[in-house]
Amino acid sequence: KLYNQVQDLKGSIRVYCRVRPFLSGQSSYLSTVDHIEEGNITVNTPSKYGKGQKAFTFNKVFGPSATQAEVFSDMQPLIRSVLDGYNVCIFAYGQTGSGKTYTMSGPKELTEKNQGVNYRALGDLFILAEQRKDTFRYEVAVQMIEIYNEQVRDLLVTDGKIRNSSQTGLNVPDACIMPVSSTSDVIDLMNLGQRNRAVGATALNDRSSRSHSCLTVHVQGRDLTSGTILRGCMHLVDLAGSERVNKSEVTGDRLKEAQHINKSLSALGDVIASLAQKNPHVPYRNSKLTQLLQDSLGGQAKTLMFVHISPEPDATGETISTLKFAERVA
Ligand code: ADP
Ligand code: MG
Repeated sequence: KLYNQVQDLKGSIRVYCRVRPFLSGQSSYLSTVDHIEEGNITVNTPSKYGKGQKAFTFNKVFGPSATQAEVFSDMQPLIRSVLDGYNVCIFAYGQTGSGKTYTMSGPKELTEKNQGVNYRALGDLFILAEQRKDTFRYEVAVQMIEIYNEQVRDLLVTDGKIRNSSQTGLNVPDACIMPVSSTSDVIDLMNLGQRNRAVGATALNDRSSRSHSCLTVHVQGRDLTSGTILRGCMHLVDLAGSERVNKSEVTGDRLKEAQHINKSLSALGDVIASLAQKNPHVPYRNSKLTQLLQDSLGGQAKTLMFVHISPEPDATGETISTLKFAERVA
């Protein structure tokens, strides 16, 4: 029965959109978003003749009042399938400030209510594993890496260096892998990863918006009667900000960063679009991110592209390019 349920979801690509609420202090009189109706979102666009509108359709659209719990409840089937031996990738895409980190981790002042997808996903994994303990024995381990300028850093070690641990069956080879057995273990590791990430950042620039960070959860389950081993993994990826920088305004390191981000986000878009179109050639080799996640993109794997938009009129240009990116991969 379980097997059939999972078969229904196999090889799926889904695209969700979430609109950030106005932040305190922001005027909420004008919003780029005109209205949301189920999977449809209509935005106000500036046009030559004054005001225009454009509609986009996705698998799901969450408005500004959607709670973390509501957002997560739509992802629960994906979490369950990891325990059944499937690979899952969840990407948070959008311009800096649109709410990617809020969705994946939560706000800075974390409470149980506002915890993001990664804490909830791990919590669910432990609960489900416990429920199945008479038939399966599960082991869970996590990795945390960052990709900055096409270089991979291990966030679970202080110096960031990737070590050769020659582990087998890993999609993110050679980064430190830590066994976890409770949500509090996971919270400790995520805090460690955040601290190590900050160490690598320069004082002035918030590096987190210009690197991709990836929390990978490996699950291995042994069927207690047959002895069969199931392996699944889940990658929770908080992508670098998708905003285009003005080439005439930035130079040097900033320009290099922007070019790397641009290249890797379009490579990701190309991979997902070719999977969605069932194109036989999938261009995995064009970026570090798609190379690392190759085993978890396509085939039997399930992908969720979760795009984020900001409501304020200042961001309309970026909002529309985000929605166009998402429309292309849907
Ligand atoms: P990003 O990671 O895309 O740069 P953040 O997640 O840091 O954006 O969000 C920017 C700000 O908006 C943060 O202060 C965050 O707490 C707040 N925020 C984002 N999404 C929401 C939301 N759905 N509800 C309330 N506050 C949000
Ligand atoms: Mg962020």
